[in-house]
Amino acid sequence: MAAASKNGAANGKLRILLIEDNPSDAELELAELRREGFEVSSDLAQTRDEVSERLSKHSYDVVLADYNLPHFRGMETLEIMREKGLNVPVILVTGALRSMTAVECVKQGATDYVLKDNLTRLSLCVRRALAETALKEQRKRAEMQLAKKVEQLARSNSDLEQFAYVASHDLQEPLRMVAAYTQLLSERYRGKLDESADKYIAYAVEGALRMQALISDLLAFSRVGRNGAERANIECNAVVDESLKNLAAAVQESGVIITRGLLPTVHADRVQLGQLFQNLLGNAIKFCGKDTPAVELSAERQGDEWVFAVCDNGIGIASEHKEQIFVIFQRLHTRTEYSGNGVGLAICKKIVEQHGGRIWVDSQPGRGSTFRFTLPAISADRDDIHENHS
Ligand code: ADP
Repeated sequence: MAAASKNGAANGKLRILLIEDNPSDAELELAELRREGFEVSSDLAQTRDEVSERLSKHSYDVVLADYNLPHFRGMETLEIMREKGLNVPVILVTGALRSMTAVECVKQGATDYVLKDNLTRLSLCVRRALAETALKEQRKRAEMQLAKKVEQLARSNSDLEQFAYVASHDLQEPLRMVAAYTQLLSERYRGKLDESADKYIAYAVEGALRMQALISDLLAFSRVGRNGAERANIECNAVVDESLKNLAAAVQESGVIITRGLLPTVHADRVQLGQLFQNLLGNAIKFCGKDTPAVELSAERQGDEWVFAVCDNGIGIASEHKEQIFVIFQRLHTRTEYSGNGVGLAICKKIVEQHGGRIWVDSQPGRGSTFRFTLPAISADRDDIHENHS
């Protein structure tokens, strides 16, 4: 395939294909371009075969085509170029063209048109066409670069996820050994060595157990969506019921009052959706203040999506931490204040994003938090909403 000429007009050199049956008209066009400072070289063609052959063999900056030749119509050039995958600007140079026809030609892909009795416009049209082509090429190059970057990013993301998965998975076994044997040491030799030995062994046991918890959370995080989500139409009410069953101990201990609005049916992975509700409800109960915790769960249809809200009356979050809390292992408190490893919200974010939604928090310290997330709605009607049955 012949590419556009490398010369371009940047250095004043111009390679053109002239589709013209009248030699004196062709000469006039070339003279006009030279007069305007172009260093022009050209080929002439008059029939479909000639046009096709020239375009295949050579590369041109621009095509100047007469609208009507005895055996060819200038506009056919566009069709030939389309077949060849070429994108050279075509300027119609014609004796007379009704303005309607001219507009139609431009609509069909001609770059511009010039009347033969007004050739002084020619160089302006050529310059404009060249600038447009250069811009198009620039845009195409930028798009290609962007696509390459996106691909690189996706690849490095998946490499990273694979690394986290393999590392956390393979570390489990040796860590299990360390934890088991330090625990054994602690049981067998407590009080039999000196006091420092007991202390050191206790630290080692604690460290190993803590590392086990972190590794297992990291594994849980990297497992989200790893085997492909199994999507189905899921009734959120039923999923929330299950999540609350899993949180029964915390619910009972805290005395939390939970209110639930109308929740829809969504197209989602049941297990992941359960994890999402459980993490958010669990946090809403865990990060309560001095008052009895109160949690409100609701969903509101906004356009093509559902916006879910989990609202609590707990300790709240300072605005500078609103993004940070969704990053894995990021916590705002020590484990003695509130238990946890800082993985729950990172998992929530991953689940929501894998379902095509967003998650964020609105909060004021000391006045509670509202975690919101979106999920795509199944259909335009409201059949996907169900009465609260808690
Ligand atoms: P974890 O609960 O194990 O700490 P998360 O990822 O679930 O991990 O939460 C990260 C941090 O976000 C928590 O440590 C806490 O500081 C803050 N957070 C999460 N949910 C709430 C909430 N409902 N109210 C106040 N702070 C919260």
